Amino acid sequence: MIKPIPYGKQDITDEDIQAVIEVLKSDYLTQGPKVFEFENAFARYIGSKYAVAVANGTGALHLCTLALGVKEGDKVITTPITFAASANCVRYCGGDVVFSDIDSKTYLIDIEKIKTLLETSPNGTYKGIIPVDFAGRAVNLEAFKGLAEEYGLWIIEDACHAPGGFFIDSKGQKQNCGNGKYTDLAIFSFHPVKHIATGEGGMITTNNESLYEKLLSLRTHGITKDCNLFTNSSTFASGEEKEITYPGWYMEMQALGYNYRLTDFQAALGLSQLQKADKGLIRRKEIAKVYQDAFKEKSFIKGQSGLTEGHAYHLYIIEVKNRLGLYNYLKANNIFAQIHYIPCHLMPYYKQFGWQEGDMPNAELYYTQCISLPMYPSLTDKEQSFVIEKINNFYHG
Ligand SMILES: *Cc1c(COP(=O)(O)O)cnc(C)c1O
Repeated sequence: MIKPIPYGKQDITDEDIQAVIEVLKSDYLTQGPKVFEFENAFARYIGSKYAVAVANGTGALHLCTLALGVKEGDKVITTPITFAASANCVRYCGGDVVFSDIDSKTYLIDIEKIKTLLETSPNGTYKGIIPVDFAGRAVNLEAFKGLAEEYGLWIIEDACHAPGGFFIDSKGQKQNCGNGKYTDLAIFSFHPVKHIATGEGGMITTNNESLYEKLLSLRTHGITKDCNLFTNSSTFASGEEKEITYPGWYMEMQALGYNYRLTDFQAALGLSQLQKADKGLIRRKEIAKVYQDAFKEKSFIKGQSGLTEGHAYHLYIIEVKNRLGLYNYLKANNIFAQIHYIPCHLMPYYKQFGWQEGDMPNAELYYTQCISLPMYPSLTDKEQSFVIEKINNFYHG
């Protein structure tokens, strides 16, 4: 029997392992030079001014809602077809999540529905939008920025699925996911199924200097060591009546922050993984093309991810008849397809706020027929052929 084929998987090379070992032998396990190097390299890769490495993608989202000052009762719009963390970050700060349905073709949050929502609510009802580059397809953020300006909203782009993805703006310019051109903040995850793996890990990118400063402080307990920002006196700090300078040990906790730091050995792994990101992306596109051609015009297909310029192919999704049957059949053949996602608004946690079946018809229909096929750079041609063969067998016997 063929070895198990998951839907997504990390690709760790000898160079990656070497990079981690070097840090383990160095003086720093955390808060060393690799984190800063990784941040700089990542910002260059994405095309943002700043990058802040954090413990995971969920922490990245939490720091974003904190930095933007989300508070109790603030309403924030996001998609129901995403990993729960995209919505949960609003709840961490006491805000209310307002789900808005997807476009059935792209599976992305439908901007027309958001427009209607905004037009039919009193001004100031909503504080922000969290669009998700779902499956790796880039959201057209230029259009969202237009809305955000009109209604005074901030934007956090959840780009966990899309490092290396892009869209083309109205000036014909390529805008990388997470580059901050049309958003306030963007976030990434380095969970093993994502494009770049560090075990746990995440990154926030932004072009906004004041948000960047806030994130740095909130990532590490809200503590600052910058003497220009101290508010207590130097005499208090030093314990000496006439002292006018602050002593070396002194620091101030000025906000309620967290410990959301990334370790130095994870940053070294991230740096090493980043070198291969472009290659991985090319491979993902090849795999997508093969699936696309294999399923074109098949009668059991109700929809598929399609080939789009700038799609980063974190996932390759098809919509099919008898999805449960296919899932079980593939599983019996050691192919572990996955479902992305169970609509977030129907999670029992969110149902307590009044969300119910029927609220998001497109997302709910999509959920009944979607399935994510194996998609990762180290998937071999042979393995992919096996997957396609089994799918065809299931429907045509
Ligand atoms: C993976 C993921 C997250 C959370 O990232 P973690 O690193 O697992 O905390 C958030 N949003 C989306 C869309 C994701 O895919």
